[in-house]
Order: sequence, then structure tokens, then C-alpha cells
Amino acid sequence: MNKPLIIITGASSGIGAATAQRFSAAGHPLLLIARRLDRLEALALPDCLCRAVDIRDRAALVAAVAEAEAVYGPADALVNNAGVMLLGQMHEQDPEQWERMFDINVKGLLNGVHALIGGMVERRHGTLINVSSVAGRKTFPNHVAYVGSKFAVHGLSENLREELAPHNVRVVTIAPGAVETELLGHTTDEGIKRDYEAWKANDMGGVVLSAEDVAGAIVWAYQQPQQVCIREIVLAATAQQP
Ligand code: NDP
Repeated sequence: MNKPLIIITGASSGIGAATAQRFSAAGHPLLLIARRLDRLEALALPDCLCRAVDIRDRAALVAAVAEAEAVYGPADALVNNAGVMLLGQMHEQDPEQWERMFDINVKGLLNGVHALIGGMVERRHGTLINVSSVAGRKTFPNHVAYVGSKFAVHGLSENLREELAPHNVRVVTIAPGAVETELLGHTTDEGIKRDYEAWKANDMGGVVLSAEDVAGAIVWAYQQPQQVCIREIVLAATAQQP
């Protein structure tokens, strides 16, 4: 039997790219979303539509979903993974940075929900997988706005899960600890970046999660029977203390 379409945002690197590879290996057609189209296409996955969409652009996201569903049929899962982490002290950070985090991590994620939810409710089938963070459950130094955006992801995901339960649609929250990806690279404060790298090297002996570790958890949660909802997965390197 043909496997249903899976949509992944932020698939051009890190967790999203690893998740795309896993779902593809499991036989699913894919719609991959990010701004760097060349990086999506470089994955060279079969039955895969790649679209350069900024998830802040709701109309473009809705259009890409419609285009993919016209080719591969209805989407059965959305991995709402695209996000940015711009660490800083609030009294020093450019407000543009916290606006950008809320626009992408929270409003962009809701754009993804919006693009898929109507069809899933109508079909009484589907899974929304929202990538939050351990920083969606507890605080960390220099993380004020990022923590705020990820607490929002946890809160809205749990409320959405309750709302969609009667419609047989699942909502899964994935909360990883530190993962080796490009995420830290967008923080502009060099001192904070150095401290973060030192925390990984010294406190964790340089052993953090890989993107593949997190992708494995995402695909496992999806592959449970539809009547089983893995509400939340919190995973971190064994050596990660906070
Ligand atoms: P990466 O920086 O490697 O990946 C982020 C992805 O998001 C990229 O594909 C990027 O693509 C995409 N993205 C960013 N902004 C937009 C946008 N406006 N529109 C569309 N796509 C966008 O980091 P990770 O893989 O680590 O991050 C994935 C998720 O995991 C994030 O939500 C992050 O908060 C979360 N997370 C990461 C942890 C970590 O330690 N790495 C820990 C806990 C959670 P492009 O730039 O091409 O648009």
C-alpha cells in the first residue's frame, strides 16, 4: 500500500533534514519546506517536492501544501520543525531578534497547523508533530525570548491536542535537549556562543544528541497506531544535567 504524504518544515538542515531522510527511507512521499531550496534539493530524496517557503508567509505555505497534496494525496503528518534560536541578554538584545523568534517559532508554527488542520479534521486522521525544546519546559541563561517562544509551543500544542482529540487527530510535542546542528550559529553574541560551546564540551564531554537521535523519536511517535498518541517526548544526552 502507498504510504501517505508527510510534510516537514525546516528540512534544509539539522533535525528536519534527518527526519526527511528517515521518513523517506520508510517509504513516504514528502513535501520539504525551508528557505534554502538548494539544501532541500541536495537531499535528493525520491517522491519529494521541495519548496522554498518562509513559514512566516501563510499564503505561500498553504499553496505549497495544496500543490503537494494534488500530487501525492492528503498529508497524514506535519513535522512543524523550523525554528531559530537567537540567544541574548534582554537588556542588550536587538528587539528584532525576539520578534523574529516569535514570528518563526510560534506564529510560523501556527501557520503550519492552519495549513493542515482543516483536512485532517475532515478526514478524522492525521498527526501534528511540533518541535519544541527542553527550553519549552525550563529556563536557561540567555534564553529569555527563546524560552518564551518554546513555552508557547508547549502550551499551544497541549491545548491543541485536547481540542483535536475528539476528531481523532494527534498532536505530539518533541522536546530535545542540546542537539549538534546549525541552530546556535545564528546567535550573534560571540561570548554567549563561546559559553554554550564550552557548556557542551566541559559539562557534557562533547556528547550531545545528534539530529538522527531526534529524527528517530519523531518517526517512532508517528508510527504508533493512530489510536495511540505519544503526547510528549523529552530527550537529551544522558550527560546533560539541566
Ligand atoms: P537548524 O538551524 O539546523 O535547522 C533549522 C531549520 O529551520 C532550517 O532548515 C531552516 O532552514 C529552517 N528555518 C528557519 N527559519 C525558517 C523560516 N522562516 N521559514 C522556513 N524555514 C525556516 O537547527 P535544528 O535542526 O537544531 O532546529 C530544528 C528545531 O529543533 C528548531 O525548532 C529548534 O528550536 C529545535 N531544537 C533544537 C535544539 C538544538 O540543540 N539544536 C534543541 C531543542 C530544540 P532555512 O534557513 O533554509 O530556511
